[in-house]
Amino acid sequence: MTHPLPDATRHYINGQWTVSRGTGRKAIINPSNRAVIGEVALGDAADVEAAVAAAVAAFDAWSQTSVAERVAVLRRITDGMIARNDEMAAAISAEMGAPRGLSRGAQAPSGPQHFEEIIKVLETYQFEEKLGTTLLRREPIGVCALITPWNWPLNQIAVKVAPALAAGCTMVLKPSELSPLDAVIFAEICHEAGLPAGVFNLLQGDGVGVGAPLTSHPKVDMVSFTGSTRAGIAISESAAKTIKRVSLELGGKSANIILDDADLAKAIPASVRGCMGNTGQSCNAPTRLLVPAALYSQAVELAVATAQKLKVGAGDSEADLGPLANEPQYNRVVAMISAAEAEGATLLTGGATPPAGTDGYFVSPTIFGDVTPGMTIAREEVFGPVLAILRYDSVDEAVSIANDSVYGLSGYVWGSEGRAGAVARRLRTGMVHVNGASLDSAAPFGGFKMSGNGREWGVFGLEEFLEVKSVYGGGQ
Ligand code: NAD
Repeated sequence: MTHPLPDATRHYINGQWTVSRGTGRKAIINPSNRAVIGEVALGDAADVEAAVAAAVAAFDAWSQTSVAERVAVLRRITDGMIARNDEMAAAISAEMGAPRGLSRGAQAPSGPQHFEEIIKVLETYQFEEKLGTTLLRREPIGVCALITPWNWPLNQIAVKVAPALAAGCTMVLKPSELSPLDAVIFAEICHEAGLPAGVFNLLQGDGVGVGAPLTSHPKVDMVSFTGSTRAGIAISESAAKTIKRVSLELGGKSANIILDDADLAKAIPASVRGCMGNTGQSCNAPTRLLVPAALYSQAVELAVATAQKLKVGAGDSEADLGPLANEPQYNRVVAMISAAEAEGATLLTGGATPPAGTDGYFVSPTIFGDVTPGMTIAREEVFGPVLAILRYDSVDEAVSIANDSVYGLSGYVWGSEGRAGAVARRLRTGMVHVNGASLDSAAPFGGFKMSGNGREWGVFGLEEFLEVKSVYGGGQ
């Protein structure tokens, strides 16, 4: 069944679809074929005023709803996302290029999965506890600005909106202007779920027109942002004057340490697929593969064979990898590949030449060998299907290379349990995967250092949206 693409030229403010006050428009491009598939409204400061006013007005009532009321609404939104999974997936494939298996099987289902996890947390969460004679209360922080990127668009919306609603906050969501369609379907689902007017508002637009006035607005109490480190810094500066809480989930350059007792035949193919998944556009992708010098040739052989088996194709196909999500990202990835070659890394497979027969923003799975820690390809986030392989001589050296990064989002270790566990403890990252263990939606997701300062998912995600109040004498 084909689904018509949603209309992103309107905002959803105070429970109604409204015409944008900002008159700018931007074309929405399908990255699989560069076709214009719609337009997104570029809202302005007047749209921000209206949406923030709606969220402020709705706060008092929503913040005082019971847990049972909030659980009921969260459940209806979850059911709505499940019912419209394939429509959501089609919108995501069209706006950012994820092939069908990925959009239907992971991108779209990530929305309801995070909602389900938050419902579980909310049902048992203790908003009040006693500390001696004092009553400690955890209360919603207030009006939240939620700013999301284009790489896992619904996932990022869900990991912010679900805990914000659960906490009793009201909010204004600004999705990426490069992938605005799934957010429209999400807003329709919130509306149909009976969320009171003003609790959830959606503004379409870019960083300058909507992001900046939103993050500096005196009536916004918190900003939760996922995206580039550049924008994270700009948002922190913009929010500083009104002392907002700012929760950031930024980039990464995650190291993947293969110990000499790892099962190479399992570890290397899984590592390559992990790096290339979602066309390499995941902040936690294992993009630096660190292998013992003695196992380098064997690792290279396995890595190249795995990459060459991956099928690249359009968002409406069953390929393993789609195109890069948009033109700026394509240009960035091609420039990074050229820089790696210029700096002396060995191109083992892939490269900047587009795969034959493609017309969109496609790059083949690319692997560089002989990478040294100082090279740009070993230091900067590519956000594309590009893996860098580095050699190391001792475990201490591997840990030191891994930690020599401005980022600290995730780490990966493969080897016998005790040794891998010991290395995991030494990595300066917010997350570590041991022997290919998957992410856990109950556990906190977030990074150290310039990868950000927030934690999303599960109970840690909920607590980001809560303030703590001491009621002296209230605990007697
Ligand atoms: P970006 O950070 O510019 O955009 C992400 C979101 O922030 C969008 O909604 C955008 O409109 C908004 N935004 C941008 N500038 C803003 C500002 N000053 N104030 C408020 N909002 C602002 O991301 P991008 O330019 O699309 O991608 C650039 C790079 O960011 C990528 O190459 C990648 O390295 C990284 N990235 C990381 C993630 C992640 O999940 N951590 C996601 C997307 C991109």
